[in-house]
Amino acid sequence: MTQSSKLMLDEEERARLWARVTEVIEDYLRRVGEARVSPLIDLEKIRALITTFDFKRAVDPLEAVDRVAEGLWGYQVHTSHPRYFGLFNPAPTTASIAADALVAAFNPQMAAWGHNPFAAEVERHLVGAFGERFGYKPEETDGTFCSGGAEANHTALLTALVKHFPRFAREGLRALPAQPVFYVTGQSHHSFLKAARLCGLGTESVREVEMDENSAMDVGRLSAAIRLDREAGDLPFMVVGTAGTTSAGIIDPLRAMAETARNEKLWFHADAAWGGAAVLVEELRPALFGIERADSITFDAHKWLSVPMGAGLYLTRHTEILEETFSTATSYMPRESRDFGVQDPYNHSMQWSRRFIGLKVFLSLAVAGWEGYEAAIRHQTAMGELLRRELEASSWEVVNRTPLPVACFVDDTKPEGGDARYLEEIAREVVTSGQAWISTTIMGRERAVLRACVTNYRTEAEDVRALVEALNYAREKNGR
Ligand SMILES: *Cc1c(COP(=O)(O)O)cnc(C)c1O
Repeated sequence: MTQSSKLMLDEEERARLWARVTEVIEDYLRRVGEARVSPLIDLEKIRALITTFDFKRAVDPLEAVDRVAEGLWGYQVHTSHPRYFGLFNPAPTTASIAADALVAAFNPQMAAWGHNPFAAEVERHLVGAFGERFGYKPEETDGTFCSGGAEANHTALLTALVKHFPRFAREGLRALPAQPVFYVTGQSHHSFLKAARLCGLGTESVREVEMDENSAMDVGRLSAAIRLDREAGDLPFMVVGTAGTTSAGIIDPLRAMAETARNEKLWFHADAAWGGAAVLVEELRPALFGIERADSITFDAHKWLSVPMGAGLYLTRHTEILEETFSTATSYMPRESRDFGVQDPYNHSMQWSRRFIGLKVFLSLAVAGWEGYEAAIRHQTAMGELLRRELEASSWEVVNRTPLPVACFVDDTKPEGGDARYLEEIAREVVTSGQAWISTTIMGRERAVLRACVTNYRTEAEDVRALVEALNYAREKNGR
């Protein structure tokens, strides 16, 4: 057998390999609910399994797939499990799994439009479709797919800098007369801190505005902070509103923030990485009013739209800004885009070679329709409401206020029921039982809470009740 045939495999080997892979995938989709939600981590066993591959001897492809499947089954938190009440990580839709396989096989190179006009136009179509759902006008919609929300937020920071400081793109921060600063809350996503470092601003440029009693941005304090910073000689340029915080699903007052940003002539960015999906459902949409006025929006399809990671989307109303931020001239890239008056993706994104991220969103949406997604979002929202009711019926106090299906809660039956250490113990008990997965977090500035989020469209009432039972059991076990 020649070397190249080991890479391609022959027809018969390929047929067996595809059959085995689809068998493994189908088995996983059917039976994941029977597994422990989280693994018992045994690092020695994991490493022993991996080091059975020493690459000195070529392994039969089916055997290799089986051993890899054993590792995946045994040693990961199964975010596809209906009792995973976790951190926005989805159970991928079936169509999106198929799409990712097609992308791997056809492997379109997303840098240049001319290399794969179909793929590039699919993403353009999606940018338009989601822009419209968020309330942007068609002629004022642009965007790019990203690795995830962190890259989308980084892109927002860069585009805001380019827009606000015309000298920034060419001359950098040193051309600016003072320190640029932007506004978040203590509950905004931490990717803004990284992005501030990556942009050369430093984390001190990130101003945390005090929150109101519901852990949302306090707009009065935002205005005061902007005034004080200006008086101190700093240069405010951006305000970030979160539509569905990671910890507690809190939605900042987007409309009022948009108004403040407009009056102060600042870029308004809405981080709707998870919560943005609420715009797809009529009764939830009002919770996000004001997002249509955002200069840019972060939205992650790999969260509530349940496609495999990573599928971030950066949207903006400023159709020129991505090109101003990212375009470069090269001698070697294909040029068909010029003939057709379209953008090359590499001039529109911080990535160059890029995976065709959009197809998993496109195929999933094609198969489910908006209707299918509306039904899933409604179902999860209803499960969130059931979760809140069941928790309160068992004397867990729900302390966050949001229409989205994430509950933050403490134990109402014990004096230590709100202590961080006690709540961590409860979460650990639930997780190690293998029955469900939940976590702890901090709400507001310092309130420790348990956190459970209905992230999975397959979560049913019985799963919600099983979680509350596991919690009640953990509480009893920690009785003395
Ligand atoms: C998850 C999340 C992010 C980060 O997105 P990644 O896709 O993990 O990079 C940013 N903001 C919010 C509000 C999030 O929930």
